[in-house]
Amino acid sequence: MPTFSALKNFLRHTIHSLALAERQILGSRKGRSFILPTPDASSIWCHRCGAQQNRIHNFQDYDEQISCKKCIGTCLARDRTVRLGRYDGQWRDAILAVKHGGDRTLAYELGRLLAQQWQQTITTESFICENAIVIPVPMPLARRVERGIDHASEIALGVSKTLGYPMIRCLEHDAGPVQALMTRADRQSRAQRIHWKGIQKRKFRTTATLDLSSSKTIFVVDDVLTTGSTAAQVCAAIRNRLGQVKIVMLVVATT
Ligand SMILES: [Zn+2]
Repeated sequence: MPTFSALKNFLRHTIHSLALAERQILGSRKGRSFILPTPDASSIWCHRCGAQQNRIHNFQDYDEQISCKKCIGTCLARDRTVRLGRYDGQWRDAILAVKHGGDRTLAYELGRLLAQQWQQTITTESFICENAIVIPVPMPLARRVERGIDHASEIALGVSKTLGYPMIRCLEHDAGPVQALMTRADRQSRAQRIHWKGIQKRKFRTTATLDLSSSKTIFVVDDVLTTGSTAAQVCAAIRNRLGQVKIVMLVVATT
């Protein structure tokens, strides 16, 4: 007698295979089929902040100071940043196709590539993952409804399935007022807009047995890393709840 979760996994796998086949035969939903570029070699970006090259240390050990010219001496909330490429050209097109075109298959593929990129990155350093979990960067509810896709969650699903770590959507993003209508003081006062909301067990049954207190490595997934202020808020929200954990930021592209 198959269990409910086995059945659910089977259905999910079937739907994913069908979606992949559809994309291969018909192209993506918008009639475009993406041929994604090769992800950056691990020597091209700084593994700490994600910026282009200029790395001045080697990654022999996790505790060793690793920084590039851009991030050396700065306090970064995240421990590692992994990216596929820079935010331009085909990577930018792919991100926009997921965000505004609702291409879920492409999102999953980006997640799968990110997971592979991480696996290749850690071959050059001794980074130990202990009871890792995957957390997507949350988006405000109104924007999710408007776009019809929670792109970070879709990418995170690809990461989670490929690495074999559970994914939980445990953060929420307060929408707040429109940024253009706010004063400088308003902007500063609402600095922390991302909060821990808890786990929706109804949606993620597998997390019912997840012991969060034993999780020591968190993979945070997003599409683009720009200033890093969202990343910093996410890290703060996670550490407020889980204490000192290693946080690895997985992003499709950095600006
Ligand atoms: Zn750096």
